[in-house]
Amino acid sequence: MNNKSKNIHKLNEIKRKLLKKATTQLTEKLINFCYDIVVVMKKIPISRKAFYELRHRLSSRPAESGAILLGPAGSNAITHFYYDRGGNSTATSYSPDYTTLNKKLRRRWRPAGLEIKGIAHSHGGDLNNLTYGDMRYIKRLMSRNPQMSMFVAPVVLPYKNSIHPMVICRDRMDYAQKAYFELF
Ligand SMILES: [Zn+2]
Repeated sequence: MNNKSKNIHKLNEIKRKLLKKATTQLTEKLINFCYDIVVVMKKIPISRKAFYELRHRLSSRPAESGAILLGPAGSNAITHFYYDRGGNSTATSYSPDYTTLNKKLRRRWRPAGLEIKGIAHSHGGDLNNLTYGDMRYIKRLMSRNPQMSMFVAPVVLPYKNSIHPMVICRDRMDYAQKAYFELF
């Protein structure tokens, strides 16, 4: 067992003991939530500016709008936000404007040391998860960009004014994992 799995094993034990002693539902919820943050959820560092834009610009547009999240090559931080004006939006789906994005990537982002970290898009109603169609375009993007080990795909719900960060890892491309943003 390596160090990480030893620690997770220890945490599982602590969680089990704490849950036994939890007297209210709220305590139980808190224990599960803390455990998820430490063990299950992936952390996504994001600059305040990019987070602000993600929150406000996608919330103020119709559902199924999308935006590109960018950050310095070699790090997993998100520092830039680009609203995808040319994205293909229908009532129930969004797919990125690949032609414009590739052009921007070549001419502007790569020369500035930036790379695509993921794509945020909005859903109508309260579906806070990725759809089959979403997973399909993410897979397509990841297979075209073999250097991407992780794809950040937050879902924004304008109607509820909420953001649901999610990541897809290369070693498990069929599965969207819950994540959380850490602002810097
Ligand atoms: Zn979607």
